[in-house]
Amino acid sequence: MPIPLDPRKKPTDIKVRVSTGAGVDIVWADHHSSHYDFAYLRGQCPCAMCDDERRKKKDLAAHAASGPGAVLPLFKPRPTARAAKAVGNYALQIDFSDGHTTGIYSYDYLRTICPCQECAKAFRSYAG
Ligand SMILES: [Zn+2]
Ligand SMILES: [Zn+2]
Repeated sequence: MPIPLDPRKKPTDIKVRVSTGAGVDIVWADHHSSHYDFAYLRGQCPCAMCDDERRKKKDLAAHAASGPGAVLPLFKPRPTARAAKAVGNYALQIDFSDGHTTGIYSYDYLRTICPCQECAKAFRSYAG
């Protein structure tokens, strides 16, 4: 995968705070900085398995909304990270506390999921 040319998707500083559990901080080439906590990243995991799971949850939610009786959500502890490492120079791989290790977050993807409002507008307003 080539390094993205868009400065908004090019990280200049990456801090992964595994020991404190504080999450990931990235400063981008356009001077924007992003903060992600591990629970958020876990929920946004781009691997095929999680993608599938998110789709199923959406279906389930649609069913629950149309029928009587709500499905009680199972209690799950907030995931944190046990380890993280860079993959080449284009992505970050995170080893989560729930044993999930297949999530590889490209910087391109990370910028599009930046939780701030500005990025939500820039990258996630599909409605136009
Ligand atoms: Zn995953
Ligand atoms: Zn942002």
